Amino acid sequence: MSNVLVLAEHMGGKLRKVTLSTITFAREAAKLTGGQVYVLVLGQNVSGIVAEAAAGGADKVFFEDSAVFANYLAENYTPAIVKVAQDQGVGIICGAASTFGKDLVPRVAAKFNAGMVSDAIAIWDDGGIKFKRPLWAGNVLTTVEVTTPVKAVTVRTTEFDPIEGASPCATEAVSTGVGASDSAQFVNFDQVKSDRPELTDAAVVVAGGRGLKSGENFGMIMELADSLNGAVGASRAAVDSGYAPNDWQIGQTGKVVAPNLYFAVAISGAIQHLAGMKGSKCIVAINTNAEAPIFQVADYGLVADAFEAVPAITQKIKALG
Ligand SMILES: Cc1cc2nc3c(=O)[nH]c(=O)nc-3n(C[C@H](O)[C@H](O)[C@H](O)COP(=O)(O)OP(=O)(O)OC[C@H]3O[C@@H](n4cnc5c(N)ncnc54)[C@H](O)[C@@H]3O)c2cc1C
Repeated sequence: MSNVLVLAEHMGGKLRKVTLSTITFAREAAKLTGGQVYVLVLGQNVSGIVAEAAAGGADKVFFEDSAVFANYLAENYTPAIVKVAQDQGVGIICGAASTFGKDLVPRVAAKFNAGMVSDAIAIWDDGGIKFKRPLWAGNVLTTVEVTTPVKAVTVRTTEFDPIEGASPCATEAVSTGVGASDSAQFVNFDQVKSDRPELTDAAVVVAGGRGLKSGENFGMIMELADSLNGAVGASRAAVDSGYAPNDWQIGQTGKVVAPNLYFAVAISGAIQHLAGMKGSKCIVAINTNAEAPIFQVADYGLVADAFEAVPAITQKIKALG
């Protein structure tokens, strides 16, 4: 029997939704190990974050409120996580397959000499705990078995819906004794300021492709996104053409999203793009080319010129109030 530890990710005093999805994965893992699901929150002034995490369906939330963790630094987080994992009999350590998780979880794995699974989309036991993970833009699914006593996992959170209506669990402050690292120092977090929701947390994403032909033409994409309180995304070709910033890129080498509603506007639907959005609940594609591969994954397809269709849709949505 070993416990499962979820590494909480937060920003601006709020728990990231990806952590709630990671708790759902951890619940499935704990059914197999027979252990408890724990969440670890590291940060400063984290009471609100701890309360959010406690309502996420775990058995217990551990937290350390310290100036050492005021800003995320893997060098400071790692020894604290190792200490808590050792003290609490943890056998599986998991984080979201986000920038945070991809930076942190491998470092924790290295400290335990643990085998690591990236982008896990399923876990089961058939005489040994196995994980499923996609490779090659989702065209290959591999089964991975990790044989080390401690296993480290990053979770493809779009595959796991947050647990709804869980009663708040117990919380416990810990003191790991970890001080600021000598080897790394926080200098600055250069955040792109936006009133729109974070791409990976948004319920609606409106993404534009190279077919929009310029950065200015992304204005209509933003207007449609704002009318639905959504986030804006882009294909890699649109980013490479300088129409959209890097952090909007969706796909194999960008972000993976699975909103309730995804608009693919003037995006052809290359497999590398699909790898980042095909888990969306409802996909609307707008493209002039009826043969574009995006229509194969679309729930609603509109063969139309985006320059006419997008403003018309935005106008209708605004008219609905
Ligand atoms: C290793 C690797 C990793 C990659 N990673 C990614 C990734 O993470 N994300 C990603 O997106 N791509 C990625 N790519 C690139 C991918 O292969 C495609 O080149 C890219 O997705 C194409 O972007 P696009 O659909 O915007 O452009 P295009 O393929 O040029 O398609 C433009 C589309 O717009 C349509 N169109 C044109 N005008 C209009 C109009 N007026 N109205 C409506 N529709 C119109 C066209 O019919 C066409 O379908 C990767 C490629 C490689 C090799």
